[in-house]
Amino acid sequence: RSKMHKKGQIVFYDESISEYINYLMNVEHEVVRAITNDEISVCYQPQVNVQTQQLISVEALARWNNPTLGSVPPGTFITAAEETGLIHSLGLFVFKKACEDIYRCSPNGEGAIGLSVNVSPMQVLEPEFSATVISLCAEVGIDPARVTLEITENIFIHNMDNVQPVFNQLRDYGFNLSLDDFGTGYSSLSYINHLPLNEIKIDRSFIDKFLEGGQSDMLVRMIIGLGHSCGMIVVAEGVETEAQFEKLVSYGCDLVQGYYFDRPLSIESLVERYKALSEAIA
Ligand code: C2E
Ligand code: MG
Ligand code: MG
Ligand code: MG
Repeated sequence: RSKMHKKGQIVFYDESISEYINYLMNVEHEVVRAITNDEISVCYQPQVNVQTQQLISVEALARWNNPTLGSVPPGTFITAAEETGLIHSLGLFVFKKACEDIYRCSPNGEGAIGLSVNVSPMQVLEPEFSATVISLCAEVGIDPARVTLEITENIFIHNMDNVQPVFNQLRDYGFNLSLDDFGTGYSSLSYINHLPLNEIKIDRSFIDKFLEGGQSDMLVRMIIGLGHSCGMIVVAEGVETEAQFEKLVSYGCDLVQGYYFDRPLSIESLVERYKALSEAIA
């Protein structure tokens, strides 16, 4: 850290900022290359019905396997892609790939599984977003009613007025909308009040502390009750143990996702593990 004097003020200039800018420019370059070089892949984590333990849907999760860096966690490359604007192409790449993969092993109609795709708030604010995703669905053939768009809450803060019409349009097209990481943002209740949501996902941090006493248990019950009162589906993420699962059963949670059932799987492993999917392909 060095000091720069500016008319009586002291401004701190952080060398890590320039390092960071370098890093971003590097990642920008790398992400473009990664998409064109097939380094980005998509894996799928099952979401199962709490009562029947049947596979209901999967969440698509982006993976980046770089020959030199190894596997880069989404937390890193998604943030970099957002900061460089590359999230638009990356997001659409994941969306299309996921629709194709899932449509192939689970055609529309009875028994079709749902597909959840994470969408960055920046993508939603791009004017062509809803037109693009609806046309990608048409191109692939997948019914948009099978597709849920997951949005994290901390994105909108200043943009509720811009986001609301887009969400309404996405709903008109038949998509489902889910609020991801519920309970960790700034205005969870305000989103529920203003946006046409079908689903909330209880953030993993609540499930983590679930069995330790404290407030998590009460909060989880409250979120499930709140979701149901609003006619929404409630999903718990990060379920790792039987004890957590059993509690969610008794609290009437709808869907669970987590290592207790499955880790995120390649499309091949997903099909191998779930018989109905492999039969659909055969
Ligand atoms: P998320 O949407 O909340 O996804 C759930 C994350 O929790 C995933 O991490 C998943 O692998 C992890 N997880 C699932 N079950 C368990 C469990 O039982 N225990 C633990 N400890 N973790 C579990 P992942 O794949 O590292 O993704 C992190 C975040 O990156 C995602 O959080 C999502 O916000 C973002 N992300 C991933 N793919 C995409 C994408 O294609 N587009 C956008 N915009 N964001 C993405
Ligand atoms: Mg998600
Ligand atoms: Mg989440
Ligand atoms: Mg998360």
